[in-house]
Amino acid sequence: MQLDINSKLKLNNGVEIPYLGLGTYAIRRRKEVDRAIHTAFDAGYRLIDTAAAYYNEKEIGEAIKSSSVSREEIFITTKLDNFDHGYKQALKAFETSLKKLDTDYVDLYLIHWPVRGRNESWKAMEELLKQGKCRSIGVSNYMIHHIEDLKKNSSVLPAVNQIEFNPFVFEREVKEYCQNLGVVVEAYTPIARGRQFKHREIRKLSEKYGKTQAQLMLRWELQHNVIVIPKSSNPGRIKENADIFDFNISDEDMKVLNSLDENLRYSPNPYSYD
Ligand code: NAP
Repeated sequence: MQLDINSKLKLNNGVEIPYLGLGTYAIRRRKEVDRAIHTAFDAGYRLIDTAAAYYNEKEIGEAIKSSSVSREEIFITTKLDNFDHGYKQALKAFETSLKKLDTDYVDLYLIHWPVRGRNESWKAMEELLKQGKCRSIGVSNYMIHHIEDLKKNSSVLPAVNQIEFNPFVFEREVKEYCQNLGVVVEAYTPIARGRQFKHREIRKLSEKYGKTQAQLMLRWELQHNVIVIPKSSNPGRIKENADIFDFNISDEDMKVLNSLDENLRYSPNPYSYD
């Protein structure tokens, strides 16, 4: 698969999303946010993933403003919090996020979790899309039944579904369902929070390819045509996580990594949401 740091994937509405982004969960302090964002931009990242629930939108907006990268080059994703569902509430929550991010539009607005009221919120998001305040809209933690439910109640398909996805939680069915539908899959917790690096196969393959365990896992995701948003606030690791475009995992080794699924999750199980 020929990809480089500037590679993008086309969404179902024509908007392009970078394959690599910076996750920002739990990066909150102004200095830390600044350092992470500036390091990421220097390393070639252009996608920043945040959420109202991360309480860092303001700091991220400031860090972006103080960088030398223009707004048009940057892809900002933020998410609707679980407490802000419903048509009017979602519109209001979006305006709050926009204000904090200090920008005129977001590139991707996601429903963070499939909680009650989500279909009314989706209508609001369709309106935001129409008004051009979001370049694309999508969902997160949606399993197949959630998307089927959304399809029955709306005219716009999500552009993206952001789910927990790594070799230890390989949502093959959801991934295939989304990709067949034209919904781009984005992997959160793509390196399993660094807690599976001692796994025998991960170690063995990372040695074989001369790459770190994090790089191996991220590459496995890219080769599934899935966007990755590893989080780090450490400059060395931010750069390390971007150095994933100079090797290819063989089909045989992809199969080995595909076989490691053990439904190991660090976030709540979305199947428990009806
Ligand atoms: P992750 O990216 O798999 O792992 C992050 C953890 O791994 C941090 O503790 C980080 O510590 C460490 N790390 C990063 N790079 C490393 C490396 N090369 N070597 C060793 N350790 C490394 O997990 P995540 O934060 O859960 O997921 C990533 C992003 O996805 C989040 O930040 C957020 O933007 C998004 N997310 C979305 C949802 C959702 O419901 N939609 C849920 C969870 C996460 P250091 O910072 O110290 O490097």
